[in-house]
Amino acid sequence: KVLLYNMTPEQQVYVDKWTKAHPEDTLVTTTADLDATTVEQAAGYDVVSVLQVADIDDEAVYQKLTAYGINQIALRSVGYNIINWEFAHKYNLLVTNTPAYSPRAVAENTLTSAMYLLRKWGQIFKNEKEDLNFVREESLMSDEIYHQTVGIIGVGRIGTATAEIFHALGARVIGYDVVENPANEAFLEYTDFETVIKEADILSLHTPFDPSMQDMIAAEQFKQMKNTAVIINAARGPLINTSALIEALQNHEIAGAALDVMTGEEAIVMKKFSRLSELPQDYQELAKMPNVVFTPHSAYYTKTAVKNMIEQSMTDVKRVLNGQKPIYPVEQ
Ligand code: NAD
Repeated sequence: KVLLYNMTPEQQVYVDKWTKAHPEDTLVTTTADLDATTVEQAAGYDVVSVLQVADIDDEAVYQKLTAYGINQIALRSVGYNIINWEFAHKYNLLVTNTPAYSPRAVAENTLTSAMYLLRKWGQIFKNEKEDLNFVREESLMSDEIYHQTVGIIGVGRIGTATAEIFHALGARVIGYDVVENPANEAFLEYTDFETVIKEADILSLHTPFDPSMQDMIAAEQFKQMKNTAVIINAARGPLINTSALIEALQNHEIAGAALDVMTGEEAIVMKKFSRLSELPQDYQELAKMPNVVFTPHSAYYTKTAVKNMIEQSMTDVKRVLNGQKPIYPVEQ
């Protein structure tokens, strides 16, 4: 018996398919986040499953889950930074995730972001839609992908898929990772962090996030970057210091940014607004810039990914309940 929090209609389709294929399982869904106000809904279940941006920071959540006899939180995400590990360990809760639901989805979104920025579509759309200006201005002149150096920080599943795509298009791809995988050298040249920052025309972040990685890209890195370079973050918001990013863009230290994630995104993702002034101040600043594009934490959001999220998380739920080792335990 599993309670799946954060349910959406498109995930529900695959939950229903799972239940049809596995009639012995009871999957109950709620649109709520898992937090101290909703944890009581989990009483009577064997496992909870979660896919949310809000941190689960309240000790009462972990304490109550254990009291209900639950010993697994099945994340339907790659990232696991929403878990408070001190409490997860204290209450002996196993956490599983879905690390391979679709690296390709995020990698393709990165390519889309890079091409959008490179071909200056933000400025083109602004000229056309706001100013009815269809002039091929000199400032719209672009470059071609095979003349670009793509720098990847974090060459894991998504970083690798991204590197392969850009390499296939003829770009030079350089990367930095704390662990180097020789198999990746067929399409990527490993180097150090600073060299990636300095040499990349397209800088793309694909590391996980933990508090030690806060502000990995801040004022110093923006000053080191080429002023023609663009940055893409589809990893986790706090890897980039937002104030430093705004300053770097205002001072033309870099040429653009594509942000699928950003610190404070909980305040805007999955919400609708009627006026720009309703957005948090840093979003307002960035929204004014045609060389900045936001996507609502949707880099992963493909049919393949949503299907795999449900199937992979439920597979590990069943394995654990059957006394087998999970395929994707998160060790912290
Ligand atoms: P992964 O674990 O396969 O790869 C992460 C890589 O980062 C690893 O190779 C690791 O060694 C490296 N790394 C860790 N710390 C580092 C550091 N300080 N410097 C350089 N490299 C470091 O994970 P993945 O599947 O490639 O996903 C990466 C991240 O992307 C996830 O943790 C998640 O936060 C994010 N993500 C975002 C979306 C989205 O929709 N925007 C979707 C999925 C994943």
